[in-house]
Amino acid sequence: MAARILNGNAIRDQIYAELAGEVAALAAAGIRPGLAAVLVGDNPASKLYVNSKIAACGKLGLESFLITPPASISTADLLATVDQLNHRDDVDGILVQMPLPRQIDSKKILDAVDPAKDVDGFHPLNVGRLVAGRPNLVACTPAGVMEILRRSGIPLEGANAVVMGRSDIVGKPMAILLMHANATVTVCHSKTRDLKETVRRADVVVAAMGRAAMVTPDYIRPGATVIDVGQNVITDRAEAERIFANFPAKLETFRAKASVLVGDVHPDVVNTAGAFTPVPGGVGPLTIAC
Ligand code: NDP
Repeated sequence: MAARILNGNAIRDQIYAELAGEVAALAAAGIRPGLAAVLVGDNPASKLYVNSKIAACGKLGLESFLITPPASISTADLLATVDQLNHRDDVDGILVQMPLPRQIDSKKILDAVDPAKDVDGFHPLNVGRLVAGRPNLVACTPAGVMEILRRSGIPLEGANAVVMGRSDIVGKPMAILLMHANATVTVCHSKTRDLKETVRRADVVVAAMGRAAMVTPDYIRPGATVIDVGQNVITDRAEAERIFANFPAKLETFRAKASVLVGDVHPDVVNTAGAFTPVPGGVGPLTIAC
């Protein structure tokens, strides 16, 4: 039986509908929350993400400010930009889109964001609060995954959850959130032995490795919930034909656009999983909403 699709767009719309009331209440009190997005240089993927976040602000009636320093900016000048935003009363949230150009000390920049305005939850103080079980601002992608699981009624208490990937922005905070939800959590990474056997024990799998379609059906226990965080752009025809052999509509997309998006989970997993998030339209919309 084909898996239940966990529709990220529908869950995002639910969250926006709930937020509309909160934004209206603030507006009645004369408050319009403002988000500042710092987009350094012109990385196309970063531009796309930031524009989606700015558009979401507009849709919700939030103020947004787009700051676009050149790719050549120094760490010192970017620190000064962040400092200005920290002190602006009309800026309640700050996000600095990653990755930053090589000459920039990214850790220094993230550490400079006022923890109270750190909407990405990357500041060590917010990471520490999350680990200590007193979360305030939490990394958006794992927070979005938790929204999908909770709002879809996927049971976590006592469940075996396997997180594939241990990055600071996805894997690590994801594992902490699942642990706080009383799942028994295993974190896998590139040095994990017996990866497939480990993942096959999971009731809930979160794949966040950046490896196109790597998680094939033989990794998945029949009926498991599979959350696909990966976003990989395929531009090679043979690769697209191999991955999407059973999905003619996707191959049509590839033919039209000369590229197609695939997650870290192979599309054939639809026949093994109990529930899964599609790519696109799964985790991505929640990252922006969160
Ligand atoms: P990183 O590259 O920072 O981390 C990847 C992690 O996966 C690392 O921990 C790495 O292990 C592990 N890994 C890599 N290859 C393997 C392998 N073959 N077997 C087991 N583990 C492996 O990636 P991110 O966490 O930043 O992103 C992961 C994916 O999620 C990407 O596709 C990214 O585009 C996507 N993403 C999607 C978002 C969304 O909104 N949908 C938001 C953010 C990211 P090790 O630590 O040992 O190197």
